[in-house]
Amino acid sequence: MSEPPDVPATVAAQPPMERLTKRQRHGADCLYCAVTLRPGDVVDLGGREAEDGTVWSPRAHPRCVKGARDDERAG
Ligand SMILES: [Zn+2]
Repeated sequence: MSEPPDVPATVAAQPPMERLTKRQRHGADCLYCAVTLRPGDVVDLGGREAEDGTVWSPRAHPRCVKGARDDERAG
């Protein structure tokens, strides 16, 4: 299975901005688990605008994105 996962550009269950580290906001660490991302194991979640107008570009592990989506479906 080398195909990239089918991940939408928007992620429903995003952690609150105030809880994110600077590295998470910059896409250096996973948006969900805060572990440093490595090439080949990254999903670019796309640029987005924060409430204060700041544009940021979160990234995450494919499995973490899938987990967040599964959580939302579950409950
Ligand atoms: Zn992760």
